[in-house]
Amino acid sequence: MSASFRIGIIGSGTAGPAAAIFLARAGHEVTLFERAEKKLSVGAGFLLQPTGLAVLHQLGLSEALLPHIVPISKLYCRTHSGRVLLNLPYSELGQDLYGAGTHRATLLDVLLSAAESAGVAIHWNTEMRRLSRAPSERPVLHDQSGQTHGPYDLLLICDGAHSTMREQSGVPAKVSRYPWGALWFMGKRTPEFDPQVLWQCVGSTRELNGYLPTGTRDDLLSLFWSIRIDQIPAWREGSLDHWKQQVLRLTPQAESFLNQIESHQQIATAVYHDVRMKQWHGNRVALLGDAAHALSPQLGQGVNLALMDAACLAETLQQHPLEDALDQYSKRRRQHLRFYQFATRWTTPLFQSDWLPLGWIRDAVFPIVNALPVLRREMTATMAGGKTGPFSRLPQAQIPGRPPESRL
Ligand SMILES: Cc1cc2nc3c(=O)[nH]c(=O)nc-3n(C[C@H](O)[C@H](O)[C@H](O)COP(=O)(O)OP(=O)(O)OC[C@H]3O[C@@H](n4cnc5c(N)ncnc54)[C@H](O)[C@@H]3O)c2cc1C
Repeated sequence: MSASFRIGIIGSGTAGPAAAIFLARAGHEVTLFERAEKKLSVGAGFLLQPTGLAVLHQLGLSEALLPHIVPISKLYCRTHSGRVLLNLPYSELGQDLYGAGTHRATLLDVLLSAAESAGVAIHWNTEMRRLSRAPSERPVLHDQSGQTHGPYDLLLICDGAHSTMREQSGVPAKVSRYPWGALWFMGKRTPEFDPQVLWQCVGSTRELNGYLPTGTRDDLLSLFWSIRIDQIPAWREGSLDHWKQQVLRLTPQAESFLNQIESHQQIATAVYHDVRMKQWHGNRVALLGDAAHALSPQLGQGVNLALMDAACLAETLQQHPLEDALDQYSKRRRQHLRFYQFATRWTTPLFQSDWLPLGWIRDAVFPIVNALPVLRREMTATMAGGKTGPFSRLPQAQIPGRPPESRL
């Protein structure tokens, strides 16, 4: 390593703690700031892809995570009339490949324990409001109680899709909100749902219902239901039974699972953002995760991209002087991020939009693509997270850094 830096990180979601572990272990002095209370157990279930699992393996966290994940063998998506649109088994890419269903709080616990062991100083209940510069141009942070922190040699902005610090970084970004979001509920898995399959059913482009096995300890299952954001208030006022009937029309086997829902309060809502940036660094500043490139969760990549950002930045800092390292970070991440942002923008309206003809096209084309092994393999590789273009993959084979003998 060339030099040891004083590094400030804003946001303890996925990107922040993952970067903190890499950098503290590399000998840097790392401080992580999070506005929430310590280890607040919030968030939905999500799918770790082989790419994200590879980074966690690189961090030595596979063992700690293993008891809390459920291996997902494939994505299965059909229409409500029974037409199979997608049947994408990870095994098509390698017999020992799989995704992992888990809960945000679980991953966070594992990351934070490792960060603490690596000597990262973590400040909870500390919301950063302002970024200024010391005379040396090094970033200084100002929190909600007016206290200042820094100056830092390097600041990492990892404060998520709703980032307030991104704008202050001086790195240009375009941010828009998707008109569609989702309702989420996590409950005990019922036997009608395969514990290893991410199961989805679509009606028109206005109807999407999915079920993600979310963890082995309590055998949880996450339900998601697509909804227009402007319809969420009406949904909250409306009849829960009426909504359950809509869900059952797509997924009749969900009846006993839905019995766990007795009030609207048990259901969380999620809105999605699209963040576009030409580069993900500025003067002594880098942006990681959703703050840098939020996208809709249609392809299930956000957490995985955040983990890969952290691994990439740590590597470039190891190899180059600071300014070059940041430049290299943007360069190395560009193709991978561009592909997933592009693919997500084009895929999302096929599943979540008011453009009903797109649903007819989807239902005609996807079964054909799914039946052709070459194309199906590319779709599976897209889901697994390692693509950089329609027919190109990340360097170091499909899934970089992944030792073949390990489960993760
Ligand atoms: C409903 C839903 C389902 C999803 N499913 C998947 C999936 O299956 N697979 C997948 O890979 N991804 C999924 N994602 C995306 C994934 O959750 C995000 O991409 C991922 O959490 C991004 O991590 P992050 O660290 O960049 O940001 P976040 O996880 O959002 O973390 C940001 C952190 O910064 C803190 N913060 C914000 N502002 C400040 C401030 N000013 N000062 C201090 N702290 C601050 C926040 O409290 C938060 O803890 C899903 C997202 C949603 C909404």
